[in-house]
Amino acid sequence: MKIQAVRGMQDLLPEKKAIFRLIDEAARSVFQSYGYKEIGLPIIEETGLFERLVGRATDIVEKEMYTFQDRNGESITLRPEGTAGCARFAEQNGLLFNQIQRFWYQGPMFRYERPQRGRYRQFEQLGAECFGIPTPDIDAEIILLNARIFRLLGLDGDITLELNSLGNSESRESFKYDLVEYLTRYKSDLDIDSQRRLIANPLRILDSKDPTTQTIMLEAPKLLDYLDSESKAHFESLKTMLGECGLDFVLNPKIVRGLDYYNKTVFEWTTKLLGAQATVSGGGRYDNLVKQLGGRDTPGIGFAVGLDRLALLLEQKSYEVKKPDIYFVSPELKYRSLVLCIAEKLKDQIPSLSIIVNCGESKMKAQMKKADSSGARIALILGEDESSEGKISIKFLREASEQVTILQSEVAEYCSKYFCKEDTFG
Ligand code: ATP
Ligand code: MG
Repeated sequence: MKIQAVRGMQDLLPEKKAIFRLIDEAARSVFQSYGYKEIGLPIIEETGLFERLVGRATDIVEKEMYTFQDRNGESITLRPEGTAGCARFAEQNGLLFNQIQRFWYQGPMFRYERPQRGRYRQFEQLGAECFGIPTPDIDAEIILLNARIFRLLGLDGDITLELNSLGNSESRESFKYDLVEYLTRYKSDLDIDSQRRLIANPLRILDSKDPTTQTIMLEAPKLLDYLDSESKAHFESLKTMLGECGLDFVLNPKIVRGLDYYNKTVFEWTTKLLGAQATVSGGGRYDNLVKQLGGRDTPGIGFAVGLDRLALLLEQKSYEVKKPDIYFVSPELKYRSLVLCIAEKLKDQIPSLSIIVNCGESKMKAQMKKADSSGARIALILGEDESSEGKISIKFLREASEQVTILQSEVAEYCSKYFCKEDTFG
């Protein structure tokens, strides 16, 4: 039996990885322009961090975590999300007291879920967290930043911003109380998961996908009716700011997010193009997180974008992977040392060039076929004639121009002119 990848763990083929890189570059430039600093977080944290912050009754902690004992017998977990670890990082490194911090990070997250398109057991997130600001202007900033990433990727037409407010913990408690009272009347009609959540985590019933439960929910108490006055004012102010900045949104009272730490603002970006895996980014405010960690009262807000789902969206937009500029062919191994030297010099002089040297042994005809299918714009040819005369030939693979032969010493200048012209006018 051949060994296969572990279920739910994705191999990223070059085309896919190139799209991840594209997203990374777009996000990186946006974060930079808003003054967010990149940080590196460990992939493994103490299990207790997630139990305490994400919440024992959440799906993530109940059934999705990769939890192991390390060799000391300590319980460790492959991070299922980044916010808890980021708060731990900021607190542990003394970055929170009397300070405002804007951080971003990226990397793999792990959840033991049922693998399907857009849902994997190892997936990639790009997250941002901002600590120290209680007012809604930062909620607006972080949402505008998120929007800008999507816009830069050309995805703004395919994605909708959905907003909700969860209020403070008291208003949520009184809502929960009334919700449970209402739902208990229909308990036997609820789906099994929702029946269980009625005791463990009733807010999650709001986003149940079960049709009968959804019908029952139509008449249920509404969270927005329970908002405390401060949360209400915060939410109104956020909506005004987003509106004045020209960002469209819809209100979705069903958004509760699957983690315990959120309060006030919560938001998701959804798409109609990915079926059930509709959410490409989610976030919200978490003003009690740092305190729950044992730190001082520190407000915070953040979001995480799922790269795997964004990549699926970009694929549907037929994004083109970058092709090499030059494909270098030569008939035999004895020319290869000169070929490699010329290629090295070219890369020294024009570092942006992508050059593939045809290595290994194959006929010139086969090499020229490979040059063509690589998508390169030109083939450099170093054959017997060229070699004996200190020359090199250039075949144009994407245009009708005649092949030319030039001195090897002139190749860098030639390529520089050729590709600069391409860059400017191409
Ligand atoms: P869903 O409701 O689809 O399970 P979620 O609410 O659990 O999503 P979050 O915890 O908010 O997701 O994570 C933020 C983003 O990370 C999601 O919007 C999604 O794009 C991505 N994501 C979450 N879980 C997965 C997964 N198993 N595979 C791929 N991407 C994921
Ligand atoms: Mg989930």
